[in-house]
Amino acid sequence: MFDRIKTLRQEAADMKAANAEELEALRIKYLGKKGEIAALMNDFRNVAAEQKREVGQLLNELKDTVQSRINGLRQSLEEGQSSGGDIDLTRTAYPVRLGTRHPISVVRKEICDIFARLGFSIAEGPEIEDDWHVFSSLNFAEDHPARDMQDTFFIQHSPDIVLRTHTSSVQTRVMERQQPPVRIICPGRVYRNEAVSYRAHCFFHQVEALYIDKDVSFADLKQVLLFVAKELFGQETKIRLRPSYFPFTEPSAEMDISCNLCGGKGCPFCKHTGWVEILGCGMVDPNVLENCGIDSKVYSGYALGMGIERITNLKYQVKDLRMFSENDIRFLRQFESI
Ligand SMILES: [Zn+2]
Repeated sequence: MFDRIKTLRQEAADMKAANAEELEALRIKYLGKKGEIAALMNDFRNVAAEQKREVGQLLNELKDTVQSRINGLRQSLEEGQSSGGDIDLTRTAYPVRLGTRHPISVVRKEICDIFARLGFSIAEGPEIEDDWHVFSSLNFAEDHPARDMQDTFFIQHSPDIVLRTHTSSVQTRVMERQQPPVRIICPGRVYRNEAVSYRAHCFFHQVEALYIDKDVSFADLKQVLLFVAKELFGQETKIRLRPSYFPFTEPSAEMDISCNLCGGKGCPFCKHTGWVEILGCGMVDPNVLENCGIDSKVYSGYALGMGIERITNLKYQVKDLRMFSENDIRFLRQFESI
């Protein structure tokens, strides 16, 4: 009995298998129901009682040794395959799945490219801002509702520090350090304390444009608006301006474009008016220029701002704002071709 165990232990150490079939044959020979070890176990009852303890222990050790040797051989066979032991150069390559650009990024780039062709350069600024750059410098009165806790995220313990509610804060920063001519666009993420629903979110994206120079007039603004609308939505697009109010522009206007779904005839999307609102704009309020150290008697300028989500919705009919930030790959893959 001892001799057989010793022999088998030696055999286990010397086991070799060139492939899975050979390995399986070894497993059956040693560990199978009628295998060597099963036979030994069978003979175990004939072992003298005083030796049972020692023999039993040796048998268990042998079984473990054989099992781990077979496991080891199996592992090295598998590794041999995957490490290219047999390289098949004729096999087709695995397809490489390319990522897609996010629709917001696509539209943001499109808007930036249009303004770049008009000579605007991109300016960026911090998302965590102070009250001066977000509100005070932009002519927001102390009691303006936009400063209210319901609209603005304040940084705890610092009533002066907020998450920017618009990218206009970047305009202030540029005007403070640069004398006209200023011709910039400010794309970026902004935050508002709103309940998240299909049509509102606590963060979204804006692009604002600012042009300041001598003799800049509302006519210049209108030409740029028309150009941008046509570039974004097609050459047949019409625009119309409605008077509006923003603290930082005077006069202020909101711009509608002819509905790009029905061509202005009226449909549920444009609520049968033929027009959809896309941006706010106006001539920069002289107070804002003065706040930033620019002489409002010499210089004038216009500013305009739009929500990138809004433009993306109009271009691709995304009905639920939340889709943009849910990372649902089924949604994002729909933009693979753009
Ligand atoms: Zn329509």
